[in-house]
Amino acid sequence: MAIRQLSDNIINQIAAGEVIERPASVVKELVENALDAGARRVELATAGGGLTLIRVVDDGSGILPDQLPLAVSRHCTSKLSDNIHDIRSLGFRGEALPSIGSVARLSMRSRPREADNAAEIVVQGGKISPVRPVAANHGTMVEVRDLFFSTPARLKFMKSERAEASAITDVVKRISLAFPAVRFTVSGSDRSTLDLPAVSEDGDGLLRRIAQVLGKEFSDNALPIDAEREGVRLTGYVSIPAYSRGNALHQFIYVNGRPIRDKLVAGAIRAAYMDALPRDRHAVTALFLQLDPELVDVNVHPAKADVRFRDPGLVRGLLVGAIRQALGTSGTRSSTAGSAAMLEAFRTPERQAGSGYQPRFYSGEARPSTPWSAASSPSRPLEYAAPVGEVHPSGGLAEAAADFLGITSLPGADARAAIQEAKEELQHPLGAAKAQVHENYIIAQTDDSLVIVDQHAAHERLVYEALKEAIHSRPLPSQGLLIPEIVDLPEDDVDRLISQGDFLARLGLHLERFGPGAIAVRETPAMLGQVDASALVKDLADEIAEADTANLLRERIDHIAATMACHGSVRSGRRLRVEEMNALLRQMEATPGSGTCNHGRPTYIELKLPDIERLFGRR
Ligand code: ADP
Ligand code: MG
Repeated sequence: MAIRQLSDNIINQIAAGEVIERPASVVKELVENALDAGARRVELATAGGGLTLIRVVDDGSGILPDQLPLAVSRHCTSKLSDNIHDIRSLGFRGEALPSIGSVARLSMRSRPREADNAAEIVVQGGKISPVRPVAANHGTMVEVRDLFFSTPARLKFMKSERAEASAITDVVKRISLAFPAVRFTVSGSDRSTLDLPAVSEDGDGLLRRIAQVLGKEFSDNALPIDAEREGVRLTGYVSIPAYSRGNALHQFIYVNGRPIRDKLVAGAIRAAYMDALPRDRHAVTALFLQLDPELVDVNVHPAKADVRFRDPGLVRGLLVGAIRQALGTSGTRSSTAGSAAMLEAFRTPERQAGSGYQPRFYSGEARPSTPWSAASSPSRPLEYAAPVGEVHPSGGLAEAAADFLGITSLPGADARAAIQEAKEELQHPLGAAKAQVHENYIIAQTDDSLVIVDQHAAHERLVYEALKEAIHSRPLPSQGLLIPEIVDLPEDDVDRLISQGDFLARLGLHLERFGPGAIAVRETPAMLGQVDASALVKDLADEIAEADTANLLRERIDHIAATMACHGSVRSGRRLRVEEMNALLRQMEATPGSGTCNHGRPTYIELKLPDIERLFGRR
């Protein structure tokens, strides 16, 4: 067969094969177009999981009638100057509309703000009809019907209507995080309605949009991020370690407002949480990178979800540094998800205990002592500290209060001192220890909440942090191998390992170049005991190639520290005195990351007073 030029329609269908994978891809392109047009309101309607109908209405800038044929023609765009590196919009390829028009029935109706009339254009299976005048409001409406009618092979790959509908919702949610000031609605017979009202564009607005999209539980357990390095800005929210997920699907990352998927960014998030989360748990994030468009290439793949950074090391360093800092300052924060679960557990005692459940607290003669009356506590005044917050320290009220509370046996000054001390304890984030129950749980009280600490988990974390600090404050001891192990490696890998040689040596791994394409391992970290040096070196080379770091070895060493910590910490079952408990609480407050144990479980939970009141039906 002779060589011939493909027809426009075939070219468009080939492009559609790359960009329009399923209904959600159409939605992504149309919503991006609406946002590029400056819309404040984007209304989406679907039917049949988007295969029957997708309609997007926006209040953006609109298109003049004579431009409509161009809008649906290949390689026509209003968004790109002659500099492909200067991309400030979500679209730029001029491919979406013609691609959609080649595999569906597309109609587009638009009226620019300054125009008196609206016009419509229709494309069916690649055939463009003449523009005709119609009546319409300002803005643009795009309808896509019978998607893939002209490419039945594609249709066979579609999942259920429901799955496609939910993929569409996910696309809208994902993009909406980057545009909090825009109102998004999604409706249709194939779904429940989604309505995301516009919120302000600042951090507060973003947090509200996050709550709308990712749920209040995440926004309640999120730490703000705001950092900048060499002109690259990073903002957004990340989850505290106690709030994590089983996969990384809940990591939302944006570059200049564009949702992306990127190994480098995912790796940086993992590295930032290295100490805070076990390997199989994943942080939840909504992170926004803002940088000069020239410093990032978004034209890597037609779907535009992949990016390449000009300076990957800078971006990685910024991410790891900013997240670690946020996790550090969050210190002891635990997850409210735990207390929510606990509230649920409390709320359904009837169902849990079967029909035999009787509320026990007010049922008669044997009213049990409250859990707050610390049996093991030698310092009684502390137990009664709660209402003292209202007492004016300098007035005679203190004595009156002490009197009322039954601590008259103490001389006035002592009582005042005790009260003052108790008041100070209450001000701490984890409050004043009141009791230990079941030999493992510390019950503490703050101004406005009840805190329960898992003493074993908390102590384990503290020991771990201390061990790590001790380990990494000086070079680690190594053990020499009788015969150096020679590991054959590609020359690139040898270079990479040698480039990290000093860092590795500090950790006790001593490497030397050994002729071309090989490395000699002379000493290994003593802490690791017998190691497969060859496997370790190869893994490290892979990590350096991928992420430019050699944290793997550090991770392994930290893992050993974690195991040691687990064995060296206060086992549950040890009785603690109130002073010891308070000391543990204060130490937790001072230690970064102590809100979770080494396995990522919370070390404490907090129940706010209003929640407790709700449990008792007082609210
Ligand atoms: P791209 O977005 O890459 O430019 P598209 O095929 O998606 O390519 O759109 C082609 C052109 O049509 C856009 O450049 C824009 O000028 C115009 N357009 C598309 N959708 C809209 C819309 N909702 N509002 C205003 N103009 C639009
Ligand atoms: Mg577009």
